[in-house]
Amino acid sequence: MSVLHDAVGLCQNCSHVRAIKNARGSTFYLCALAEKNPHFPRYPRLPVLACAGYVKQYEAVEPSQNKRDE
Ligand code: SF4
Repeated sequence: MSVLHDAVGLCQNCSHVRAIKNARGSTFYLCALAEKNPHFPRYPRLPVLACAGYVKQYEAVEPSQNKRDE
């Protein structure tokens, strides 16, 4: 578990998040759900530890993990 993950919380891997990096290298986490529902803040206060809108992003499985023993 990375420090960044701890600092960001659920937004780190939420399907609604849009990570925006500025010229100085700082990353901001925009909640796209806020455009449809004003209940959600556009820039949530981090770390987000609980959120009703959280939807886990699809996690790709490495091809080697799908191979059966030969
Ligand atoms: S829905 Fe919640 S967890 Fe997802 S990006 Fe918005 S604030 Fe973060």
